[in-house]
Amino acid sequence: MIRNIIDNIIADKSYSIEDLSLVLQCNDDDRKYLFKKSQEIKEKYVGKKVYFRGLIEYSNICAKNCYYCGIRRDNKTLERYTMTNDEVIEAAMFAYKNRYGSIVIQSGEISSPAFTENITHLLTQIKKLSNAELGITLSLGEQNEKTYKQWYEAGAHRYLLRIETSNKEHYQKIHPNDDLHSYENRVNMLNLLKKLNYQVGTGVMIGLPFQTYENLAADLMFMKEFDIHMCGMGPYIEHKDTPMYSWDIKLLPIKERYNLTLKMIAILRIMMKDINIASTTALQAIDPIGREKAITIGANIIMPNITPRKYRDKYFLYDNKPCADEEAEDCIRCLEMRIKYAGGEIGYNEWGDSKHFLNKLSHE
Ligand code: SAM
Ligand code: SF4
Repeated sequence: MIRNIIDNIIADKSYSIEDLSLVLQCNDDDRKYLFKKSQEIKEKYVGKKVYFRGLIEYSNICAKNCYYCGIRRDNKTLERYTMTNDEVIEAAMFAYKNRYGSIVIQSGEISSPAFTENITHLLTQIKKLSNAELGITLSLGEQNEKTYKQWYEAGAHRYLLRIETSNKEHYQKIHPNDDLHSYENRVNMLNLLKKLNYQVGTGVMIGLPFQTYENLAADLMFMKEFDIHMCGMGPYIEHKDTPMYSWDIKLLPIKERYNLTLKMIAILRIMMKDINIASTTALQAIDPIGREKAITIGANIIMPNITPRKYRDKYFLYDNKPCADEEAEDCIRCLEMRIKYAGGEIGYNEWGDSKHFLNKLSHE
């Protein structure tokens, strides 16, 4: 029964949210079948290459108050920072010299004119200093059309904005109920980014309070119907200084959230065969070889953290975030071994753009 559903998904025959939900709950035997298939599909459609995105955690200042996030505005236990422009350029040049191919600039959500202008300046500088060879992804939250446009024109060409959960009621439960945290706006932003020609990535957290298997199945369907180009999804992990931490509700055990994340990645890979899927750091926080497992069964993007060490313990979105005391140089050596172990090879010096995006462009 489950195997039939998996075969239907692979053949792009019709399947429902209920079908996806059943696959998410499958037993070990069927899971092996799913992973075997997702591995095959990955190799056939996107190959063995794993692309780097050097992650620069630019600032932990955030105007928002998402109930789950360690750098939310009202977490007063946190020392706030913004990297200097020299530090950002240095990190970007580290990525360039080490043939990473691309970087991601991520931050808490700030929408001031000064912030917008500075990001534009940084994009222009990084493009110039890397002879336009370094690809740039942004993950800077919800902004207005003018800002997104300005950043695109300055050199950013991919944008990550997780929907977090595609169910509006669920979204409202895990965010404050105000204009700053509007589900509709989140969806509008994703549409806007697409309209502006960005390669658009979204994703969800897995194992959130109140989340059902049907919710997760609907999340997968949302991504398929929205026709995303990239996906970054990972397990929800508690942070002790957030409201969600003290909610009196039963969460899935952490290992279950991890297993469910691997299933989500494998199912998305067979649903959307040529998109980019990131193997997220949160997986590694649960299992030391979590990211490698994700690569084996469907992911093809990895985001080594290249934020200066002195800021690492200030960008804790969740407890026990890995690599807080590792310098970028340590990470690159261990990553090379890790990716080999996962049966992949590193796409050095390549942007590793979403094949789904490029395939669509060539058919237009
Ligand atoms: N502020 C931007 C935004 O929200 O889109 C980008 C930075 S935000 C820290 C990046 C992602 O971190 C969020 O989309 C969210 O899914 C994830 N995140 C936040 N808190 C988390 C937690 N406790 N566990 C796992 N992921 C978390
Ligand atoms: Fe801010 Fe993003 Fe964290 Fe929400 S998830 S509090 S927007 S950094």
